[in-house]
Amino acid sequence: MALLEVRDVTVAFGGVRALSDVAISAEEGRITGLIGPNGAGKSTLFDVISGLRRPSAGQVFIGGREVTRLGPARRSRHGLARTFQRLELFGRLSVRDNILVAAELGPDRRNAAGVVEEILDRLDLTRLAATPADELSTGVARLVEVARALAARPKLLLLDEPAAGQDPEETDRFAGLLRSVAAEGTTVLIVEHDMDLVMSVCDDLHVLDLGKVIASGPPAEIRRDERVLAAYLGDAA
Ligand code: ADP
Ligand code: MG
Repeated sequence: MALLEVRDVTVAFGGVRALSDVAISAEEGRITGLIGPNGAGKSTLFDVISGLRRPSAGQVFIGGREVTRLGPARRSRHGLARTFQRLELFGRLSVRDNILVAAELGPDRRNAAGVVEEILDRLDLTRLAATPADELSTGVARLVEVARALAARPKLLLLDEPAAGQDPEETDRFAGLLRSVAAEGTTVLIVEHDMDLVMSVCDDLHVLDLGKVIASGPPAEIRRDERVLAAYLGDAA
């Protein structure tokens, strides 16, 4: 079943059409990748899905329910959590407190402290729990953003370039984490430029170029697609 369905979404910034009739879906409990060159519209699509930007046309459905007109807070209550391409941690708060803020808003808020310790342990962040967020490397800060999203116990998790700044070992561990999160039934939609990561963890891919979906399908098919090679993968490879 498609946990997320985006139907014919259009967004324009003045004269620039950031998204034109974009239709994508993400299947429940699977990892779906959204790839494409810089400026393709990936982050704008995340804003539309998470309720931060109202599209000029089109609809968004989560769990079969239309959420197009709901704001971000209502969508979080429907199980959506996301990370941002530009980090949005509270710089002076510790890693633990950054995660706690999210846990206290989530469905397990009565056991927020327990949720935080479980997630710190799962993401191997316990030894950094007391460190202020603005003292972290970019790679680790991104992991803390993911930790914060997971503390909300999401059904649908949107990750915007989560592996940027991670070293290869961190990325390997991150791939394992994504697989285990999806295996628990969480639906993951990920924007990422690390093609080794994308090709190894994603079950399905959608490719955006200049605001349009130019291909959708399994990774093995996408990596051979002529249009995708011309628009994006030819350069990335
Ligand atoms: P991606 O995440 O794929 O790199 P974006 O969604 O950030 O792409 O941007 C898509 C297009 O929309 C780009 O041309 C970008 O310059 C434009 N854009 C994004 N956000 C804004 C904004 N707030 N105002 C004006 N133009 C924007
Ligand atoms: Mg982006």
